[in-house]
Amino acid sequence: MISAFLSKLLTTRQASFTEEGIEIFDLNFNMQPLLSLVRFQNETNDGEKMGKLGYFISESIITHFKKRFAIEEKKMTNLWTNIFDISGFGKVEVVDVTKERTILKLDKSNFAKLYMENYGIQKQPVCHLLGGIFKNFVEKTNGSKVDVKETSCIAMGNRVCTFELKTIK
Ligand SMILES: [Zn+2]
Repeated sequence: MISAFLSKLLTTRQASFTEEGIEIFDLNFNMQPLLSLVRFQNETNDGEKMGKLGYFISESIITHFKKRFAIEEKKMTNLWTNIFDISGFGKVEVVDVTKERTILKLDKSNFAKLYMENYGIQKQPVCHLLGGIFKNFVEKTNGSKVDVKETSCIAMGNRVCTFELKTIK
């Protein structure tokens, strides 16, 4: 079923999918099979760069919305979450937020699932891309730098992917 958020964007013409391109709130997007990102990570074996890509994905969205809607970064949570939830990575849930750290989880992490299907059970977490996306989001909305650690990952056989984002003192 189409997400209520996307349906609203399409009917109000705030999102368009045409031969010329994909735009959401006037920001250009593109689609690619998730498997291409999974394979790219496996071949390059560079989690740090995948994290950087994730960081720029979130940064592009937040910078654009800040300008487009003149809203503060701190007030972007709803909009950002809605966009993330139609990105194809899975639905993100906030588990806990304190001053020092934020914990996020994905019950169905499509990236991790696909990674495991293609390369078997992993010894280390694989969702660096998501980690980078969340790092940027938490930094922008909290206003302070954070370290991100994926503490459980579906690709390791865990039930969910969990991310712990700790404020750097
Ligand atoms: Zn994971």
